[in-house]
Amino acid sequence: MRLQKLFIVIICVFGMLSVLNSSTQIVLGDQLPKIKTLIIDGDNNHNWKGTTPVLRKILEDSGRFNVDVITLVKDENKYNVETVTANLNQNLVGNEFSPVFDQFDLVVSNFNNHRGGAWSNETRAAFEKYVSNGHGFVVYHAADNAFREWKEYNKMIAFGGWGGRNQTDGPYLYINDEGKIIRDTSDGNGGSHGKQWAFLITNREPEHPIMKGLPKEFRHSNDELYDKMRGPAENVTILATAYAQDTTKRHEPMLLAIDYGKGRVFHTTLGHDTAQLKSVAFIATFLRGAEWAATGNVTLPVPNDMPDKDSPVIRE
Ligand code: ZN
Repeated sequence: MRLQKLFIVIICVFGMLSVLNSSTQIVLGDQLPKIKTLIIDGDNNHNWKGTTPVLRKILEDSGRFNVDVITLVKDENKYNVETVTANLNQNLVGNEFSPVFDQFDLVVSNFNNHRGGAWSNETRAAFEKYVSNGHGFVVYHAADNAFREWKEYNKMIAFGGWGGRNQTDGPYLYINDEGKIIRDTSDGNGGSHGKQWAFLITNREPEHPIMKGLPKEFRHSNDELYDKMRGPAENVTILATAYAQDTTKRHEPMLLAIDYGKGRVFHTTLGHDTAQLKSVAFIATFLRGAEWAATGNVTLPVPNDMPDKDSPVIRE
């Protein structure tokens, strides 16, 4: 009898342990449902053919994302779908780019309509609805050069550069030496950068899920430090800045989190080309920003090789 009771106790303990174990695993990245992600590329005055596969690999290697890619090609004033990855409807190919967003949790733009084509009004409206209804959007580097004339897109990205942007597009946004956020409405073009250098990134929101646990300062590899960016700058949190010592002598925003309706946008100005995507400062912030945009949380750990303030860390 005693032995039977002991046996039952042992079975109960094992049962509880296995329940505990499975509930613990829920918080681990690999056990969570994958974030269905769409990268859009195909027109950009940057090396999108090189960077998209690297962005995709960074996302998928984390264990947290499944990634599809739609590549667009300009056709007169519109964009047609040139290629799609295997999981997507092959009937899209050859037709004008039309709404596909709802099947994804997250859209990443590596797209800058540099050749001057436009998405249709229907596609724009669908994308606005998609994000404002609570989905995620990541705007990566020169994607913030795109669509100057599309007001809602500029609200999503908070600020942009080039493409003729000036004081009519919104204020310059930066942080001054006293740590105060400045919205500067003075006249001038939006978007520039000096020569590439390995600049220091300052964490301005250490309690934000994207930035929590990252060092107060960490070093990025040689990259363009975007400055003089301007736009609506509404509902925006400046997550990180870099000091533009060679140009504006301002603390220029490098990473932004934007609320757009119920949706979340992560904006990284970093990552000019494939070389910059090897920098752990880029990889760590891109992954965490993408997870936050899609879910509102970050479960991905701070990498062990996160750089300190002195030297960048490059992953070959
Ligand atoms: Zn660039």
